[in-house]
Amino acid sequence: HHHVLYATADGVEAVVDTGHFHPEAIVWQRLAAYQQEGGFQLLAQCHNGHVSVNALSTLLEKSQLRGLGGAGFPTFKKWQAVRQGAGPRYCVINADEGEPGTFKDRFYLEKAPHQFLEGALVSAWAIEAERLYIYLRDEYPGLHRVLHEAIAELEEAQLVSPGFIVMRRGAGAYICGEESALIESLEGKPGKPRHRPPYVAQQGLFDRPTLVNNVETVYWIPLIWKKGAEWFAGQGRNGRSGLRSFSVSGRVNRPGVYLAPAGITLRELIDEYCGGMAKGHVLAAYLPGGASGGILPASKADIPLDFDTLNAHGCFIGSAAIVVLSEHDNLQAVATNLLAFFTDESCGQCTPCRVGTEKMLTLLEGDHWDVQALSRLAKVMQDASICGLGQAAPNPVLGLLKDFRSILAKQQIIVSDAAEGDAP
Ligand code: SF4
Repeated sequence: HHHVLYATADGVEAVVDTGHFHPEAIVWQRLAAYQQEGGFQLLAQCHNGHVSVNALSTLLEKSQLRGLGGAGFPTFKKWQAVRQGAGPRYCVINADEGEPGTFKDRFYLEKAPHQFLEGALVSAWAIEAERLYIYLRDEYPGLHRVLHEAIAELEEAQLVSPGFIVMRRGAGAYICGEESALIESLEGKPGKPRHRPPYVAQQGLFDRPTLVNNVETVYWIPLIWKKGAEWFAGQGRNGRSGLRSFSVSGRVNRPGVYLAPAGITLRELIDEYCGGMAKGHVLAAYLPGGASGGILPASKADIPLDFDTLNAHGCFIGSAAIVVLSEHDNLQAVATNLLAFFTDESCGQCTPCRVGTEKMLTLLEGDHWDVQALSRLAKVMQDASICGLGQAAPNPVLGLLKDFRSILAKQQIIVSDAAEGDAP
């Protein structure tokens, strides 16, 4: 069994069996139990007119709830954008959690699928969706069963019309977590990202206005309604507001999913939530946003882990997957592992990414790193790739070149600037 540790801002802690190897073993909150604590009252109030879209939208604006899948777009604004287009409209939940190091959505789905479903149904109601699609990654077999059973409970209780919620399985492609590729996949086509504009809010699934939200984003909606916008927005740290679910893995004492104030620093997260560094390990580096978010040195462990601060450091918090590394970790292995991942997962649609990831991997495999060749290649990938995969793939390498020269030297990697004119 694998276990995930979970801690809330109130200090409550639970150990949850992730059930990965024993899908039958997931213990989840049934409909009756969720209703006993006030579950589905928000949806009822939406349907009987006691709660208006405007009122709920204002509540979400005050709570400062942003997309928690990675892009961080304010949730209420997405609702507005989708509502601007004429119907029929669709609501799609992105449950394709594939960013390396991210496992928070899985945690919430296993713990409280009905709270998630209520948030998803409220979102569908807010944009007057014809249908609600849930695109769940195939690597979560236990969750397919849980969600099917939970949806059956809702249909049985007549809380949702049969067929309104449609479950779809991913097929293991990382790129299908990108919203336009996910929509292509839902339409039965190969999962390849679309050019934008038009944005999916205007022309998404079957070219209709489409609201695409991450699991965790909608999960919070019923609770924000119950506890108030202030409860959510009031919990930040270091001048930020809100709560974030950090998936922490690597060289810490207690890896797991931690619900912590937005704007917490890595050092605070490790010390207060993860029981410190693992024995015999000293912090050397961390990935603040899974494979795509870049890499930061230990000297930057005291900056707030939030959207804006990390952007200023050339990094990206994304889905808040924090991978903690120590000096025992080989940085070349980290770099080649990440680039091999991107090479495998590139959809191949555009040359800067398809060829660039492969070329970058080759450049990193030797023990001489050519800064000019790597930087130029990175620039082409960032500027000319169609989607975030190709644009973000060079991030960890750029971070290593910027902040890790001395550790790389210790690990026998010679980083050198090549002569002018050497094309990658
Ligand atoms: Fe596909 Fe990569 Fe181009 Fe994205 S950047 S569309 S993953 S080839």
